[in-house]
Amino acid sequence: MELDLLEASLVPEHARHVKAEAREFAQEHIAPNAEAYYDSGDYPWEVLEAGMDAGLVAADVPEAYGGRDWDLYQILAAAEEFYRADAGIGLTLQLASFGAEMTAEYGTEAQKAEYLAPVGRNEQITGLAVSEPETGSDLAGMTTSAEKQGDEWVLNGEKYWVGNGVEADWVTLYAKTGDDPDNRYGNYSMFIVPTDAPGYEAEHIPEKMGMRASKQAHIVLDDCRIPETNLLGEEGAGFYMLAEFFNHGRIVVGGQGLGIAAAAVEEAWEFVHGRNAFGKQINEFQAVQHTLADMRLTFEQARSLNWRAAEKVVENEKAGLWASMAKVASTEAAVDCSERGMQLHGGRSIFTDRRIARTYRDARIPVIYEGANEIQRNLIYSQS
Ligand SMILES: Cc1cc2nc3c(=O)[nH]c(=O)nc-3n(C[C@H](O)[C@H](O)[C@H](O)COP(=O)(O)OP(=O)(O)OC[C@H]3O[C@@H](n4cnc5c(N)ncnc54)[C@H](O)[C@@H]3O)c2cc1C
Repeated sequence: MELDLLEASLVPEHARHVKAEAREFAQEHIAPNAEAYYDSGDYPWEVLEAGMDAGLVAADVPEAYGGRDWDLYQILAAAEEFYRADAGIGLTLQLASFGAEMTAEYGTEAQKAEYLAPVGRNEQITGLAVSEPETGSDLAGMTTSAEKQGDEWVLNGEKYWVGNGVEADWVTLYAKTGDDPDNRYGNYSMFIVPTDAPGYEAEHIPEKMGMRASKQAHIVLDDCRIPETNLLGEEGAGFYMLAEFFNHGRIVVGGQGLGIAAAAVEEAWEFVHGRNAFGKQINEFQAVQHTLADMRLTFEQARSLNWRAAEKVVENEKAGLWASMAKVASTEAAVDCSERGMQLHGGRSIFTDRRIARTYRDARIPVIYEGANEIQRNLIYSQS
Protein backbone atom coordinates (compact mmCIF):
# COMPACT_ATOMS: atom_id res chain seq x y z
CA MET A 1 0.00 0.00 0.00
CA GLU A 2 1.32 3.41 -0.92
CA LEU A 3 -0.30 6.48 0.56
CA ASP A 4 -1.60 8.91 -2.02
CA LEU A 5 0.27 12.04 -1.04
CA LEU A 6 0.50 13.33 -4.57
CA GLU A 7 -2.96 13.72 -6.00
CA ALA A 8 -4.68 14.43 -2.72
CA SER A 9 -6.94 17.45 -2.96
CA LEU A 10 -5.21 18.88 0.10
CA VAL A 11 -2.21 19.89 -1.98
CA PRO A 12 -2.90 23.01 -4.05
CA GLU A 13 -2.49 22.64 -7.78
CA HIS A 14 0.68 24.73 -7.99
CA ALA A 15 2.45 22.56 -5.40
CA ARG A 16 1.69 19.24 -7.09
CA HIS A 17 4.41 19.40 -9.71
CA VAL A 18 6.94 20.23 -6.99
CA LYS A 19 5.69 17.23 -5.06
CA ALA A 20 6.10 15.00 -8.08
CA GLU A 21 9.64 16.29 -8.66
CA ALA A 22 10.54 15.81 -5.00
CA ARG A 23 9.10 12.30 -4.99
CA GLU A 24 10.99 11.25 -8.10
CA PHE A 25 14.20 12.64 -6.66
CA ALA A 26 13.57 10.98 -3.30
CA GLN A 27 13.02 7.59 -4.91
CA GLU A 28 16.11 7.86 -7.05
CA HIS A 29 18.59 9.58 -4.74
CA ILE A 30 17.41 9.52 -1.12
CA ALA A 31 15.79 6.16 -0.38
CA PRO A 32 18.54 4.01 -1.93
CA ASN A 33 21.23 5.87 0.06
CA ALA A 34 19.46 6.16 3.40
CA GLU A 35 20.90 3.09 5.03
CA ALA A 36 24.48 3.69 3.90
CA TYR A 37 24.48 7.24 5.27
CA TYR A 38 22.87 6.10 8.50
CA ASP A 39 25.65 3.55 8.91
CA SER A 40 28.53 5.84 8.02
CA GLY A 41 27.17 9.00 9.64
CA ASP A 42 28.81 10.91 6.77
CA TYR A 43 27.50 14.20 5.45
CA PRO A 44 25.59 13.33 2.27
CA TRP A 45 27.38 15.78 -0.05
CA GLU A 46 26.64 13.70 -3.13
CA VAL A 47 22.89 13.64 -2.53
CA LEU A 48 22.94 17.34 -1.68
CA GLU A 49 24.71 18.11 -4.95
CA ALA A 50 22.26 15.93 -6.87
CA GLY A 51 19.44 17.86 -5.17
CA MET A 52 21.06 21.12 -6.27
CA ASP A 53 21.33 19.85 -9.84
CA ALA A 54 17.65 18.90 -9.71
CA GLY A 55 16.71 22.41 -8.52
CA LEU A 56 15.34 21.16 -5.20
CA VAL A 57 17.78 22.83 -2.80
CA ALA A 58 17.31 26.44 -1.63
CA ALA A 59 14.35 26.53 -4.00
CA ASP A 60 12.51 28.86 -1.62
CA VAL A 61 15.02 31.67 -2.32
CA PRO A 62 13.41 34.34 -4.55
CA GLU A 63 14.05 33.96 -8.27
CA ALA A 64 15.85 37.29 -8.39
CA TYR A 65 18.52 35.71 -6.15
CA GLY A 66 18.85 32.42 -7.98
CA GLY A 67 16.14 30.31 -6.32
CA ARG A 68 12.73 29.18 -7.55
CA ASP A 69 10.62 31.30 -5.24
CA TRP A 70 8.84 28.28 -3.74
CA ASP A 71 6.05 29.26 -1.39
CA LEU A 72 5.14 27.55 1.87
CA TYR A 73 2.89 24.96 0.20
CA GLN A 74 5.69 23.93 -2.13
CA ILE A 75 8.26 23.62 0.65
CA LEU A 76 5.78 21.58 2.69
CA ALA A 77 5.10 19.33 -0.31
CA ALA A 78 8.82 18.65 -0.74
CA ALA A 79 9.31 18.06 3.01
CA GLU A 80 6.75 15.26 3.00
CA GLU A 81 8.47 13.50 0.13
CA PHE A 82 12.07 13.95 1.30
CA TYR A 83 11.33 12.76 4.84
CA ARG A 84 9.25 9.84 3.66
CA ALA A 85 12.41 8.60 1.90
CA ASP A 86 14.82 9.47 4.73
CA ALA A 87 14.69 12.09 7.45
CA GLY A 88 18.46 12.52 7.86
CA ILE A 89 19.12 13.25 4.19
CA GLY A 90 15.85 15.19 4.01
CA LEU A 91 17.04 17.47 6.80
CA THR A 92 20.35 18.12 5.06
CA LEU A 93 18.53 19.06 1.85
CA GLN A 94 16.25 21.47 3.68
CA LEU A 95 18.98 22.88 5.94
CA ALA A 96 21.04 24.18 3.04
CA SER A 97 19.10 27.44 3.06
CA PHE A 98 17.77 27.28 6.65
CA GLY A 99 17.51 30.77 8.11
CA ALA A 100 18.31 32.47 4.79
CA GLU A 101 14.60 33.26 4.52
CA MET A 102 15.24 36.03 7.03
CA THR A 103 17.83 37.63 4.75
CA ALA A 104 15.29 37.45 1.92
CA GLU A 105 12.68 39.08 4.15
CA TYR A 106 14.67 41.66 6.11
CA GLY A 107 18.05 41.94 4.36
CA THR A 108 19.39 45.01 2.60
CA GLU A 109 20.08 44.77 -1.15
CA ALA A 110 23.80 44.51 -0.37
CA GLN A 111 23.20 41.61 2.08
CA LYS A 112 21.01 39.82 -0.41
CA ALA A 113 23.61 40.17 -3.17
CA GLU A 114 26.51 39.06 -0.97
CA TYR A 115 24.87 36.29 1.08
CA LEU A 116 21.47 35.23 -0.22
CA ALA A 117 22.31 35.03 -3.93
CA PRO A 118 25.17 32.47 -3.55
CA VAL A 119 22.78 30.26 -1.55
CA GLY A 120 20.06 30.68 -4.19
CA ARG A 121 22.61 29.75 -6.87
CA ASN A 122 23.65 26.70 -4.78
CA GLU A 123 27.23 27.94 -4.49
CA GLN A 124 26.97 28.24 -0.70
CA ILE A 125 25.01 26.62 2.10
CA THR A 126 23.87 28.12 5.36
CA GLY A 127 22.35 27.38 8.77
CA LEU A 128 20.48 28.96 11.67
CA ALA A 129 22.21 29.40 15.03
CA VAL A 130 19.73 29.99 17.84
CA SER A 131 20.00 27.21 20.48
CA GLU A 132 22.68 27.32 23.13
CA PRO A 133 24.25 24.64 25.34
CA GLU A 134 22.22 25.81 28.37
CA THR A 135 18.88 26.38 26.63
CA GLY A 136 17.09 25.82 23.39
CA SER A 137 13.54 26.58 24.55
CA ASP A 138 13.88 29.91 26.32
CA LEU A 139 14.52 32.36 23.51
CA ALA A 140 14.61 35.28 25.92
CA GLY A 141 17.07 33.49 28.19
CA MET A 142 19.93 33.11 25.74
CA THR A 143 23.25 34.65 26.62
CA THR A 144 25.37 34.85 23.46
CA SER A 145 26.07 38.57 23.14
CA ALA A 146 26.80 41.02 20.38
CA GLU A 147 28.48 44.30 21.25
CA LYS A 148 29.07 47.16 18.87
CA GLN A 149 32.74 48.23 18.74
CA GLY A 150 33.56 50.87 16.15
CA ASP A 151 32.36 49.62 12.78
CA GLU A 152 32.12 45.99 13.93
CA TRP A 153 29.92 43.73 16.03
CA VAL A 154 31.83 41.53 18.48
CA LEU A 155 30.13 38.23 19.32
CA ASN A 156 30.81 36.13 22.41
CA GLY A 157 29.14 32.95 23.61
CA GLU A 158 28.23 29.48 22.43
CA LYS A 159 25.63 27.97 20.13
CA TYR A 160 24.66 24.31 20.11
CA TRP A 161 22.77 21.98 17.77
CA VAL A 162 23.40 24.23 14.80
CA GLY A 163 22.69 22.36 11.57
CA ASN A 164 25.58 22.90 9.11
CA GLY A 165 27.49 24.93 11.74
CA VAL A 166 30.69 23.30 10.44
CA GLU A 167 29.77 22.90 6.75
CA ALA A 168 28.00 26.22 6.14
CA ASP A 169 29.52 29.30 4.52
CA TRP A 170 27.53 31.58 6.82
CA VAL A 171 24.89 31.28 9.52
CA THR A 172 22.04 33.49 10.68
CA LEU A 173 22.78 33.98 14.37
CA TYR A 174 20.62 35.15 17.26
CA ALA A 175 22.41 37.21 19.91
CA LYS A 176 21.71 39.50 22.80
CA THR A 177 22.18 43.19 22.09
CA GLY A 178 20.30 44.73 25.00
CA ASP A 179 19.76 44.23 28.71
CA ASP A 180 16.39 45.75 29.45
CA PRO A 181 14.60 43.60 32.06
CA ASP A 182 11.30 45.30 31.20
CA ASN A 183 11.64 44.40 27.52
CA ARG A 184 12.98 40.83 27.55
CA TYR A 185 11.90 40.18 23.98
CA GLY A 186 13.45 43.37 22.67
CA ASN A 187 16.97 42.45 23.78
CA TYR A 188 17.90 40.25 20.82
CA SER A 189 19.03 40.80 17.25
CA MET A 190 19.87 38.66 14.22
CA PHE A 191 23.24 38.66 12.47
CA ILE A 192 24.77 37.22 9.34
CA VAL A 193 27.94 35.48 10.50
CA PRO A 194 30.41 34.07 7.94
CA THR A 195 31.88 30.83 9.27
CA ASP A 196 35.37 32.04 8.40
CA ALA A 197 35.00 35.16 10.56
CA PRO A 198 37.84 35.52 13.07
CA GLY A 199 36.76 34.03 16.43
CA TYR A 200 34.21 31.56 14.95
CA GLU A 201 35.06 27.96 15.86
CA ALA A 202 32.74 25.02 15.23
CA GLU A 203 32.93 21.29 15.75
CA HIS A 204 30.44 18.49 15.30
CA ILE A 205 28.42 17.51 18.36
CA PRO A 206 28.47 13.84 19.48
CA GLU A 207 26.94 11.31 17.10
CA LYS A 208 23.16 11.04 17.19
CA MET A 209 20.88 8.00 17.20
CA GLY A 210 18.65 9.45 14.45
CA MET A 211 18.99 11.64 11.37
CA ARG A 212 22.65 10.73 11.21
CA ALA A 213 22.92 12.03 7.65
CA SER A 214 22.53 15.57 8.96
CA LYS A 215 25.24 17.30 10.97
CA GLN A 216 24.91 19.68 13.88
CA ALA A 217 27.59 21.78 15.49
CA HIS A 218 28.76 23.33 18.72
CA ILE A 219 29.90 26.84 17.88
CA VAL A 220 32.17 28.90 20.11
CA LEU A 221 32.29 32.63 19.47
CA ASP A 222 35.36 34.16 21.04
CA ASP A 223 35.50 37.87 20.23
CA CYS A 224 34.14 36.92 16.83
CA ARG A 225 34.18 40.06 14.68
CA ILE A 226 31.77 40.81 11.87
CA PRO A 227 31.16 44.08 10.02
CA GLU A 228 28.45 46.34 11.44
CA THR A 229 26.61 45.90 8.15
CA ASN A 230 25.94 42.25 9.05
CA LEU A 231 23.16 43.17 11.45
CA LEU A 232 20.01 41.73 9.88
CA GLY A 233 16.90 43.88 10.15
CA GLU A 234 16.45 46.23 13.09
CA GLU A 235 18.54 46.03 16.24
CA GLY A 236 16.30 44.54 18.99
CA ALA A 237 13.90 42.88 16.53
CA GLY A 238 15.52 39.43 16.56
CA PHE A 239 12.96 37.69 18.76
CA TYR A 240 10.07 38.91 16.62
CA MET A 241 11.83 38.00 13.37
CA LEU A 242 12.38 34.52 14.72
CA ALA A 243 8.78 34.15 15.89
CA GLU A 244 7.57 35.00 12.40
CA PHE A 245 10.12 32.68 10.82
CA PHE A 246 9.04 29.81 13.09
CA ASN A 247 5.44 30.15 11.92
CA HIS A 248 6.61 29.01 8.50
CA GLY A 249 9.20 26.60 9.87
CA ARG A 250 6.72 24.74 12.05
CA ILE A 251 4.44 24.06 9.09
CA VAL A 252 7.45 22.57 7.30
CA VAL A 253 8.49 20.54 10.35
CA GLY A 254 4.92 19.26 10.44
CA GLY A 255 5.48 18.11 6.85
CA GLN A 256 8.66 16.38 7.97
CA GLY A 257 6.68 14.52 10.62
CA LEU A 258 4.10 13.54 8.00
CA GLY A 259 6.83 12.12 5.78
CA ILE A 260 8.14 9.98 8.64
CA ALA A 261 4.59 8.91 9.56
CA ALA A 262 3.86 7.95 5.94
CA ALA A 263 7.00 5.81 5.83
CA ALA A 264 5.94 4.05 9.05
CA VAL A 265 2.40 3.38 7.78
CA GLU A 266 3.64 2.02 4.46
CA GLU A 267 6.36 -0.09 5.99
CA ALA A 268 4.05 -1.62 8.59
CA TRP A 269 1.43 -2.37 5.94
CA GLU A 270 3.96 -4.17 3.79
CA PHE A 271 5.36 -6.19 6.68
CA VAL A 272 2.04 -7.52 7.99
CA HIS A 273 1.06 -8.61 4.49
CA GLY A 274 4.13 -10.77 4.21
CA ARG A 275 4.40 -12.36 7.65
CA ASN A 276 2.60 -15.42 8.95
CA ALA A 277 1.65 -16.51 12.47
CA PHE A 278 -0.73 -19.18 13.68
CA GLY A 279 -1.23 -20.36 10.10
CA LYS A 280 -2.42 -16.96 8.86
CA GLN A 281 -0.94 -13.85 7.35
CA ILE A 282 -0.86 -11.50 10.33
CA ASN A 283 -2.91 -8.82 8.55
CA GLU A 284 -5.83 -11.22 8.93
CA PHE A 285 -5.92 -10.63 12.68
CA GLN A 286 -8.48 -7.97 13.44
CA ALA A 287 -6.22 -6.44 16.10
CA VAL A 288 -3.58 -5.89 13.43
CA GLN A 289 -6.15 -4.39 11.05
CA HIS A 290 -7.29 -2.00 13.78
CA THR A 291 -3.74 -0.95 14.48
CA LEU A 292 -3.27 -0.15 10.80
CA ALA A 293 -6.61 1.65 10.73
CA ASP A 294 -5.57 3.76 13.71
CA MET A 295 -2.24 4.57 12.07
CA ARG A 296 -4.01 5.69 8.93
CA LEU A 297 -6.44 7.81 10.95
CA THR A 298 -3.66 9.44 12.93
CA PHE A 299 -1.79 10.23 9.74
CA GLU A 300 -4.76 11.63 7.81
CA GLN A 301 -5.99 13.75 10.73
CA ALA A 302 -2.59 15.32 11.18
CA ARG A 303 -2.14 15.84 7.46
CA SER A 304 -5.48 17.61 7.07
CA LEU A 305 -4.65 19.89 9.96
CA ASN A 306 -1.15 20.57 8.64
CA TRP A 307 -2.30 21.65 5.18
CA ARG A 308 -5.11 23.73 6.65
CA ALA A 309 -2.62 25.37 8.98
CA ALA A 310 -0.36 26.14 6.01
CA GLU A 311 -3.22 28.14 4.53
CA LYS A 312 -3.77 29.96 7.83
CA VAL A 313 -0.10 30.91 7.97
CA VAL A 314 -0.05 32.07 4.35
CA GLU A 315 -3.22 34.13 4.99
CA ASN A 316 -1.73 35.32 8.32
CA GLU A 317 -4.82 34.33 10.30
CA LYS A 318 -3.68 33.40 13.83
CA ALA A 319 -0.56 32.04 12.17
CA GLY A 320 1.27 31.19 15.42
CA LEU A 321 -1.61 29.16 16.78
CA TRP A 322 -2.06 27.12 13.60
CA ALA A 323 1.65 26.57 13.06
CA SER A 324 2.04 25.17 16.57
CA MET A 325 -1.02 22.94 16.22
CA ALA A 326 0.28 21.53 12.94
CA LYS A 327 3.73 20.93 14.37
CA VAL A 328 2.41 19.05 17.40
CA ALA A 329 -0.14 16.96 15.49
CA SER A 330 2.15 15.90 12.66
CA THR A 331 5.32 15.26 14.62
CA GLU A 332 3.39 13.24 17.19
CA ALA A 333 1.70 11.32 14.37
CA ALA A 334 5.23 10.33 13.33
CA VAL A 335 6.04 9.08 16.85
CA ASP A 336 2.73 7.28 17.16
CA CYS A 337 2.81 5.60 13.75
CA SER A 338 6.44 4.57 14.19
CA GLU A 339 5.78 3.10 17.63
CA ARG A 340 2.82 1.07 16.35
CA GLY A 341 4.74 0.05 13.25
CA MET A 342 7.53 -1.25 15.47
CA GLN A 343 5.11 -3.42 17.41
CA LEU A 344 3.71 -4.91 14.22
CA HIS A 345 7.22 -5.83 13.11
CA GLY A 346 7.75 -8.03 16.16
CA GLY A 347 11.38 -8.83 16.95
CA ARG A 348 12.53 -7.65 13.56
CA SER A 349 11.61 -4.10 14.53
CA ILE A 350 14.85 -3.67 16.41
CA PHE A 351 17.22 -4.54 13.58
CA THR A 352 18.99 -1.26 13.05
CA ASP A 353 18.83 -1.54 9.26
CA ARG A 354 15.03 -1.79 9.14
CA ARG A 355 13.22 1.21 7.70
CA ILE A 356 10.73 1.05 10.57
CA ALA A 357 13.58 1.30 13.10
CA ARG A 358 14.86 4.34 11.23
CA THR A 359 11.49 6.08 11.37
CA TYR A 360 11.25 5.22 15.07
CA ARG A 361 14.62 6.83 15.82
CA ASP A 362 14.06 9.81 13.54
CA ALA A 363 10.56 10.51 14.86
CA ARG A 364 12.09 11.46 18.22
CA ILE A 365 13.67 14.57 16.70
CA PRO A 366 10.92 16.76 15.16
CA VAL A 367 8.98 16.63 18.44
CA ILE A 368 11.95 18.56 19.87
CA TYR A 369 13.40 20.84 17.21
CA GLU A 370 11.80 24.08 16.00
CA GLY A 371 10.55 24.37 19.61
CA ALA A 372 9.79 21.35 21.82
CA ASN A 373 6.15 20.30 21.69
CA GLU A 374 5.61 21.48 25.26
CA ILE A 375 6.48 24.98 24.08
CA GLN A 376 4.02 24.53 21.19
CA ARG A 377 1.31 23.54 23.65
CA ASN A 378 2.06 26.68 25.67
CA LEU A 379 1.63 28.69 22.46
CA ILE A 380 -1.57 26.87 21.48
CA TYR A 381 -3.08 27.61 24.87
CA SER A 382 -1.96 31.23 25.02
CA GLN A 383 -3.08 32.02 21.46
CA SER A 384 -6.42 30.18 21.59
C1 LIG B 1 18.71 17.07 15.36
C2 LIG B 1 18.53 18.46 15.89
C3 LIG B 1 18.75 19.53 15.04
C4 LIG B 1 18.63 20.83 15.54
N1 LIG B 1 18.93 21.87 14.70
C5 LIG B 1 18.99 23.13 15.21
C6 LIG B 1 19.46 24.21 14.40
O1 LIG B 1 19.76 24.05 13.21
N2 LIG B 1 19.57 25.43 14.99
C7 LIG B 1 19.24 25.66 16.28
O2 LIG B 1 19.37 26.79 16.72
N3 LIG B 1 18.79 24.65 17.06
C8 LIG B 1 18.65 23.40 16.56
N4 LIG B 1 18.20 22.36 17.35
C9 LIG B 1 17.92 22.62 18.76
C10 LIG B 1 16.46 22.53 19.12
O3 LIG B 1 15.76 23.62 18.61
C11 LIG B 1 16.39 22.43 20.66
O4 LIG B 1 16.90 21.16 21.03
C12 LIG B 1 14.98 22.62 21.20
O5 LIG B 1 14.54 23.96 21.01
C13 LIG B 1 14.89 22.27 22.69
O6 LIG B 1 15.90 22.90 23.38
P1 LIG B 1 16.83 22.07 24.39
O7 LIG B 1 17.28 20.84 23.72
O8 LIG B 1 17.85 22.99 24.92
O9 LIG B 1 15.84 21.62 25.53
P2 LIG B 1 15.47 22.48 26.84
O10 LIG B 1 15.13 23.86 26.49
O11 LIG B 1 16.53 22.26 27.86
O12 LIG B 1 14.16 21.73 27.30
C14 LIG B 1 14.22 20.34 27.71
C15 LIG B 1 12.82 19.84 27.92
O13 LIG B 1 12.23 20.55 29.02
C16 LIG B 1 10.85 20.71 28.82
N5 LIG B 1 10.53 22.14 28.83
C17 LIG B 1 11.37 23.18 28.61
N6 LIG B 1 10.73 24.35 28.73
C18 LIG B 1 9.44 24.06 29.00
C19 LIG B 1 8.26 24.84 29.23
N7 LIG B 1 8.28 26.18 29.19
N8 LIG B 1 7.10 24.18 29.47
C20 LIG B 1 7.06 22.82 29.51
N9 LIG B 1 8.15 22.03 29.31
C21 LIG B 1 9.31 22.64 29.06
C22 LIG B 1 10.54 20.05 27.46
O14 LIG B 1 10.17 18.70 27.68
C23 LIG B 1 11.86 20.10 26.74
O15 LIG B 1 11.98 19.10 25.74
C24 LIG B 1 18.26 21.06 16.88
C25 LIG B 1 17.99 19.96 17.71
C26 LIG B 1 18.11 18.68 17.24
C27 LIG B 1 17.83 17.54 18.16
